[in-house]
Amino acid sequence: MRRVAGRLSDGREILWFNRDASPVRTLQDRRGLTPVTSTSQARWDPTVEEWVLVAGHRQDRTFLPPTDECPLCPSREGHLSEVPSEDYDVVVFENRFPSLTMGAGPPPTPYALDGLVPVRAGTGRCEVVCFTPDHDASFAALSPDTVRLVMDAWVDRTRELSALPGVEQVFPFENRGQEIGVTLAHPHGQIYAYPFVTPRTRRTVAAARRHRDRTGRALYDDLLAAELADGRRVVAQSESWVAFVPAAARWPFEVHVHPRRRAPDLPSLTEPELDDFGGLYLEVLRRLDGLFGVRMPYVAGWHQAPVHGPREDAALHLQLFSSRRTGTKLKYLAGSESAMDVFINDVAPEQAAGLLRASTPAVVPVAPGG
Ligand SMILES: [Zn+2]
Repeated sequence: MRRVAGRLSDGREILWFNRDASPVRTLQDRRGLTPVTSTSQARWDPTVEEWVLVAGHRQDRTFLPPTDECPLCPSREGHLSEVPSEDYDVVVFENRFPSLTMGAGPPPTPYALDGLVPVRAGTGRCEVVCFTPDHDASFAALSPDTVRLVMDAWVDRTRELSALPGVEQVFPFENRGQEIGVTLAHPHGQIYAYPFVTPRTRRTVAAARRHRDRTGRALYDDLLAAELADGRRVVAQSESWVAFVPAAARWPFEVHVHPRRRAPDLPSLTEPELDDFGGLYLEVLRRLDGLFGVRMPYVAGWHQAPVHGPREDAALHLQLFSSRRTGTKLKYLAGSESAMDVFINDVAPEQAAGLLRASTPAVVPVAPGG
């Protein structure tokens, strides 16, 4: 892998992750963009003790542009996109409309409501990861080699973003499908570098600590061993990775992918573990797309240890879930889920795992050059 860094015309950073054999690309962005002023804030909700990001400037962002105006396709004469090169393998750049940015100005007052609601700048970083130059492809259509290049990018970004001042957690993820609100069809993911430990991670860290206090063991080691011993919810396995539907899955089709050797974060993975991920993950994605014969909408994101720990019981894993429960029905987050955080899953996890194991992987042509 060869990494080439550049700047877009408004000063944002762009990074090309090239196969070693690819030409080095350092093209100039000729668009003359003016920087977007970020008004991102984080406000503390004292009733649930969680931060909420308020990013009003994002309302103007690009929404489902026609294919010939795609900002994630390579640039060509007559269409200058976010990527100022005629081609690329994998490319990462700072989001033009970020929810979090290192340039977020301080809020007018550090507290609202007599100190009850602390307000701070939405400091952090949001990046876009383009998985392939092929507009019509999908992650499932990548080759294992390209998945490896994407992993190199995730490792690189986790390492660099973790070193930025104030960053407490790095979250690489992919939203796929208009059904869940994706505004650009081009296959891409995002990376958020948060200025706080997210509520979900705070809860999992605390749960792992209580499990260790009770048993002296690591919660995720016990969970993975128990899932493998039980076997009913295991979807796929490789030398280094295991994919299973959690026993208390929230979504109709939810799969967690863990390395067999527990690791706190992406930079902690070994070369063989990085090499071995693509084959297993592509199998899971293709089985998912094979379920109902339609491209499944999904969210896939990496849970990693907080930047400043604790790391002792942390377990890197990818959480993948789809909101599609049948070929024609979607699951929506309605009253119980949205207002009370109580999920009602219409598909038993054992049944979901069985359906995924029985699913014929969708035949996906490998993207050109991918
Ligand atoms: Zn595109």
